Amino acid sequence: MRITLLGTGGADGWPNPFCSCASCLGALERGEIRGQSAALVDGVLLLDCGPEVPRNALRQGISLRDVRHLLITHAHPDHAGAAALMWRGWVERERPLCVVGPPAVIAECRQWVGPDDPVDFREVRAGEQLRVGEYDVRVLAAAHADESVGPAVLYDVTGPDARLLYATDTAALPESSLVDGAAYDGVLMEETFGDHSSHDSDHLDLTTWPEQVRRLRAVGAVTDRTRLVVTHLGHRNPPTAELASRLQAWGAEVLPDGAVIDLGEPTTASRGRPRRTLVLGGARSGKSSYAESLLADSDDVTYVATSGHRSDDPEWSARVAAHRERRPAHWETVETTDLVGLLRSGTGPVLIDCLTLWLTSVMDRVGAWDGGDWRGEVDALVDAWRATDAVVVAVTNEVGSGVVPASASGRLFRDALGTLNARIAANSESVVEVVAGIPRPLR
Ligand SMILES: [Zn+2]
Ligand SMILES: [Zn+2]
Ligand SMILES: [Zn+2]
Repeated sequence: MRITLLGTGGADGWPNPFCSCASCLGALERGEIRGQSAALVDGVLLLDCGPEVPRNALRQGISLRDVRHLLITHAHPDHAGAAALMWRGWVERERPLCVVGPPAVIAECRQWVGPDDPVDFREVRAGEQLRVGEYDVRVLAAAHADESVGPAVLYDVTGPDARLLYATDTAALPESSLVDGAAYDGVLMEETFGDHSSHDSDHLDLTTWPEQVRRLRAVGAVTDRTRLVVTHLGHRNPPTAELASRLQAWGAEVLPDGAVIDLGEPTTASRGRPRRTLVLGGARSGKSSYAESLLADSDDVTYVATSGHRSDDPEWSARVAAHRERRPAHWETVETTDLVGLLRSGTGPVLIDCLTLWLTSVMDRVGAWDGGDWRGEVDALVDAWRATDAVVVAVTNEVGSGVVPASASGRLFRDALGTLNARIAANSESVVEVVAGIPRPLR
């Protein structure tokens, strides 16, 4: 199954032609123009057809003359450019086209087709299955808009050699759209809003997107072999390079308009995540939420709060509560400083937040400030980190670049933490520094 991404942008594309934000001007500067989302399957089956799509196809060197099946998700104007049916009618009098869509789409499309045009209409609703050409199509529910434009649907398309989920536009997938054991070869799923999570609309963002991946994995719809690609992108997303590295943590990709994906072919690309990741950052840098996002597509995450011993401090408790609020409900929270035991026994993903507090508590416990030796504990932690079978992410503070601490104990701690960070980093596949909320991969 060959998928050509005729467009990967939202309704207004990315950049929005009328917008002067940094995201839009940056994308324009880099020549990254994304048009309305649509995908062409094997040259014959077109998923969505906004008004820009036919021309975008030509600009990518692709003719739509062989399209036999047009599957439209809903009647929002960026998905249903029904006038294209008239333009086809002017030149194609013989070969039939089957137009599939929910009722509002079919009603709209009928207006653009003459009585003798070779076009068939198939009105569908979520839950139905149909065969178009060589493809079995399951119509799935979208969480998007209402009867006036649909109701919006998603398409699960099985061809002779591969299976694709085309999931735009939608908010969190309805339960009925998580198809048990589907083991898709490819998933094209919308990620409209990037880091803007308070949009209150029927779309996904970088917080809710990995959550859908987790849910799809949980039912076997997404496997380690599934190619995960974002679409319907808008200007609330970070620049492409940063978006790409964020998606990589979930085994997903961002591709340009015109990209071709061959599904069903053996791939050598490893989509495994790094075993050990160290996330460094200053206070309030966004390091914790970034670290949490790395595991947002995973089930059974153990969140290790090394901060339990400060529960008497109300400000600290409020901060811990905010962290807890942000974490998915299915994560297990453990408050402990026994990181060695945890790394030895852990099998599922483990998120340690953070090494700074762990070191503080170790140094307190051994009386480091009065000459006690804590180094053996650090050695044991580094050994356990090197040997662990779990996927681990640890958060730590980058403290060396501020002013030199006034007290001897402050300087002692700074040096001890710097050493610990360097040793953990040296034994990690991935090391990321977060500055002003922006992750910078160091390794
Ligand atoms: Zn849309
Ligand atoms: Zn913009
Ligand atoms: Zn829409």
